[in-house]
Amino acid sequence: MIMGDICTRACSFCNVKTGKPNILDPLEPTKIAEATRELNLKHVVITSVDRDDLKDGGAQHFSKVILEIRKINKNTTIEALTPDFLRKGEAYAKVVNANPDVFNHNIETVPSLYRSVRPGSRYFASLNLLKTVKEINKKKNIY
Ligand code: SF4
Repeated sequence: MIMGDICTRACSFCNVKTGKPNILDPLEPTKIAEATRELNLKHVVITSVDRDDLKDGGAQHFSKVILEIRKINKNTTIEALTPDFLRKGEAYAKVVNANPDVFNHNIETVPSLYRSVRPGSRYFASLNLLKTVKEINKKKNIY
């Protein structure tokens, strides 16, 4: 899980801390890439907390992590399990353009429960994110 251990959302089912996150670690992409190599991982899933405090929701940082992993792990498949990038315009495209093997985004629950269990998120925005990512990259595996 990248971009720290403090989330700007407060989903009721989640055990991640909510609060004001720390600044991004500029060395994190390199560290993750090196850890992937040391562990000889065949497949790596990169996920993160929500970073509503950042202008692009952390999309650029997410993209850098993918690119750094690929640079030194040519045979590792990369899955990006992203936040919803709600109200961040087309920031998610930075992640898509880094070309992960799989683009993943969890919807978590049905629309009627969103207000109570995911108050900072929007079901149809998440659905639209998946739809739009597929339109940008028709070959991408999307879950
Ligand atoms: S957005 Fe993700 S990490 Fe943050 S509280 Fe919700 S489920 Fe947990």
